[in-house]
Amino acid sequence: MISEKMYELGTKKSTIRTIFEYGRKRALEVGEENIYDYSLGNPNVPAPDFIKQAIIDILNEMDPCDVHGYTVAPGNPQVREILAKDINRRFGTHFTGKNLFVTGGAAGAITIVFKALAEKDDEFITFAPYFPEYKCFVESVGAQLKVVPAKIDDFQIQFDEFEKMINEHTKAVIINSPNNPSGVVYSEATIKQLAEILTVKSNEYGHPIFLISDEPYREIVYDGATVPYIPNYYANSIVCYSYSKSFSLPGERIGYIVVPDEVADFGRIYGAVAGAARVLTHVNAPSLFQLVIARCAGKPSNIAPYEENRNLLYNGLIEAGFKCVKPQGAFYLFPQSLEPDDYAFCKKAQEYDLLLVPGTDFGCPGHFRASYCIKRETIEKSLPVFKKLAQEYKK
Ligand code: PLP
Repeated sequence: MISEKMYELGTKKSTIRTIFEYGRKRALEVGEENIYDYSLGNPNVPAPDFIKQAIIDILNEMDPCDVHGYTVAPGNPQVREILAKDINRRFGTHFTGKNLFVTGGAAGAITIVFKALAEKDDEFITFAPYFPEYKCFVESVGAQLKVVPAKIDDFQIQFDEFEKMINEHTKAVIINSPNNPSGVVYSEATIKQLAEILTVKSNEYGHPIFLISDEPYREIVYDGATVPYIPNYYANSIVCYSYSKSFSLPGERIGYIVVPDEVADFGRIYGAVAGAARVLTHVNAPSLFQLVIARCAGKPSNIAPYEENRNLLYNGLIEAGFKCVKPQGAFYLFPQSLEPDDYAFCKKAQEYDLLLVPGTDFGCPGHFRASYCIKRETIEKSLPVFKKLAQEYKK
């Protein structure tokens, strides 16, 4: 009668959603101010004023039919030229608008790329801890996601395990840096080694293994960290970018795919991206927000509140006795749970109204994710509660 798979995806809530909804109910019982909700990754820094101004200016200055009408499927050509120039200025690349395909955020971009690349029996590889949606995105195009276990001392990459996982069915590898959920930025050494292995393996199997870079957190970095721009290290790279986090626009659904000229068979890959977008009913990315990002691309993101929150929470958790790799980006902390069973640990934390997400959901048991894109005061108030929780485990 119906697709059982789709039914399951549409009705079985993710753990993150379940915890978040529990928090909403619990807040009605004990008061919003007594809930420490670290579950969701929804930016709490408002979109910058220049976004608001750009929207107002566009509405005042432009013909409404141009503002709200369809664009060509890859996106308004002038917008793509402007975005390409911005990328070139920042990363020393040489893209033009024909390398870009504007999408509904990173989720849209990733799904389109998976669909464009996947053939029967294909495998995609990612590295734990990873963004859980990858699994259903990959499976939706009839391929399989394989996960390299986490390197828990620094959340870089376990290359020996990775090499063992690559085979003739490997179509692409997807990375996410700065990472959700660990907050870690892959170092240049990591990217170089990844590129080297992919080059060797592509030659060995006689077909390109693509490297997809999912980077919605690119601008959210601290301590002067730099995020290597993947196409500068590996020819067969495809970038999936989004303004959801950097400009706090998750509801507006705007981002893009970059397919560099250097990608093997560029024309066919770009054509397949367009075809995948077509069957996924992309039509075009939101027209107004294409115009908005063209006016705002390259402007600074306000990351100061996230950095303050990171410092506060990280220092507080270390002081309470937690072990955690210090993240240099995104707005997540991924500490070790205080018992090996991260589900049991998060259940226990819930008794203290600390809402944390088990690491198992990100392919990395024994850890938990805390999203610190929340009010600073909530973090301040939660620190003694984390201490109490930790003390319970010392008894
Ligand atoms: N990739 C990662 C790693 C994410 O964390 C998210 C959202 O949280 C996405 C992709 C999807 O972002 P978008 O809102 O741009 O679709």
